Amino acid sequence: MELIDGKATAATIKAEIKQEVDNIVAQGGKRPHLAAILVGHDGGSETYVKNKVLACEACGFESTLIRFEDDITEEELLACVAKLNNDDDVDGFIVQLPLPKHINEQRVIEAIDYRKDVDGFHPINVGRMAIGLPCFISATPLGILTLLQRYNIPTSGQKCVILGRSNIVGKPMAQLMMQKQYGDATVTVCHSRSKTLKEECQKADIVIAAIGKPNFVTADMVKEGATVIDVGTTRVPDATRKSGFRLNGDVKFDEVAPKCRYITPVPGGVGPMTICMLMLNTLAAGKKEFYK
Ligand code: NAP
Repeated sequence: MELIDGKATAATIKAEIKQEVDNIVAQGGKRPHLAAILVGHDGGSETYVKNKVLACEACGFESTLIRFEDDITEEELLACVAKLNNDDDVDGFIVQLPLPKHINEQRVIEAIDYRKDVDGFHPINVGRMAIGLPCFISATPLGILTLLQRYNIPTSGQKCVILGRSNIVGKPMAQLMMQKQYGDATVTVCHSRSKTLKEECQKADIVIAAIGKPNFVTADMVKEGATVIDVGTTRVPDATRKSGFRLNGDVKFDEVAPKCRYITPVPGGVGPMTICMLMLNTLAAGKKEFYK
């Protein structure tokens, strides 16, 4: 069994990005600039945004954090999005999700100029990804694909089972794993209504779990020599931690790991790659790699 070290891989990629940014700036080019909009004070969102700002520093990017209170109106938020769309100095920006209930998330996502949509959530980016055109790809699935590639884990012709069908993980992951130019695998997607989920997992060469149910994937669901990617990050109470919680994956790691050829830990697997891929998308935005 080999542990897939997302933390180390992300550090390597961030150093590569920094090197490229240094070269761009040395040649008189523009330093990539990422802006983030954070609404309210949700603990998880605060941490994610803080880590994104730190990652920008590590990559040599400029970053701007724009904060609003929970009671911001949808119109005010849309006005901020429009301002960032028209700000030539901002190469890419994100609106940290979730948003308060009174704001229509989809309307906000669709208001973002797709050429600056470094989260890859805009329907134009999702659609272009689905037909294999250059675009911003959602960071978590892109991070998983990158881990598989960097660890030389074969995917072409392999049976890949994805647990979960969300717009930000399961669906784009299935698209990427299926496409010839990326995973080139035979893909099955299971969800809360799937009757044969366990049997599908048992046949899989690669299992990607993204459901948010701690310890859901057990040893009897995984075949010997499989690769298991654990996307789940559920906060469970833990009195021994200063924070009062720890992150738990969807995979019962202790019993599943001995059966695996490769497995990602939680934390330190998929999580660090997600922010790293946001940085890669921001670099691409700065270079106008996909869109002029
Ligand atoms: P989500 O939007 O809540 O979607 C969960 C999916 O899992 C749904 O498709 C749901 O099925 C399915 N599901 C739920 N319970 C199930 C069950 N018992 N059996 C089979 N399928 C079940 O979640 P998400 O946003 O994709 O996130 C999934 C997990 O990944 C969460 O723990 C989240 O925190 C984590 N995550 C981690 C990262 C990272 O960077 N590490 C990034 C994003 C998300 P239905 O569609 O039928 O409801």
